[in-house]
Amino acid sequence: MKHKLMFPETAPAGLLPKQDRTAWLKGGSATCQVPARTPQGEAWRIVLLGAPGIGKGTQAELLSERLGTCHLSTGDIFRTAKCLREEEQTASMKEALKFMRQGALVPDQTVLGLVRDRLRCLRCSGGFLLDGFPRTVPQAEALEKLLKEQDVELTAVLNYELPIQKVVARISGRRTCSQCKAVYHIATRPPRVRDLCDRCGGALFQREDDRPESVEVRMKAYERNTRPLIEFYEQRGLLITVSAEGSPEEIYQRTRVLALGR
Ligand code: AMP
Repeated sequence: MKHKLMFPETAPAGLLPKQDRTAWLKGGSATCQVPARTPQGEAWRIVLLGAPGIGKGTQAELLSERLGTCHLSTGDIFRTAKCLREEEQTASMKEALKFMRQGALVPDQTVLGLVRDRLRCLRCSGGFLLDGFPRTVPQAEALEKLLKEQDVELTAVLNYELPIQKVVARISGRRTCSQCKAVYHIATRPPRVRDLCDRCGGALFQREDDRPESVEVRMKAYERNTRPLIEFYEQRGLLITVSAEGSPEEIYQRTRVLALGR
């Protein structure tokens, strides 16, 4: 770990405004209306690693909510594009969505094009939590180059680990808000009102790629393409491995302790 991470929670969970992610979700010239929160210490610039369904998105939300750092998920860019009308989607986005529906990885060049179109988010003074990117060694190498060009350094890479059978159980119970993309689980993190988001009242749904046939493809893609990133970041002295056993709150507290080195 290059820098000591700080956990300057400024308010209890749920009291801080949700980060505006317009610039990330839409890209190009889209801007966030709510300015980034200025961190008390050095801004966090974190990459989250772990198998699909392990709970990275939930941890990203907790970290983002309590620390004010923006949650940058490439999967959310695709899900946002999926909700656009057919004529609003570019040809390369339509192509990317085909891969996504099958649970396969979108080609590196397409993903990198999207990230390059959102470089402002990597330079943001509030820092970032990258979730779902990078996912292959070429993506990690490209990110390293992009960050260098932007004169920005990663703080740490949090690698969440859990036995595969437990990961599959987590994915099958996962439900996502159709509006704000908040993530729930029917057994371990149910919404207060069935099928409705606690935060915005949006309808909850099961992602197409969380269905069993896609899950298997995603797991294979993780083992083949993403697992090698553990060694990539270990070699750079950035890796912190966190057990993803237990409730989201327990995992969050474990992240805190490990990242603080206590
Ligand atoms: P996620 O929400 O991160 O699990 O991403 C959902 C889906 O979007 C993945 O299964 C891929 O099809 C696609 N995707 C998201 N991020 C990437 C990436 N960095 N590289 C390739 N495909 C991605």
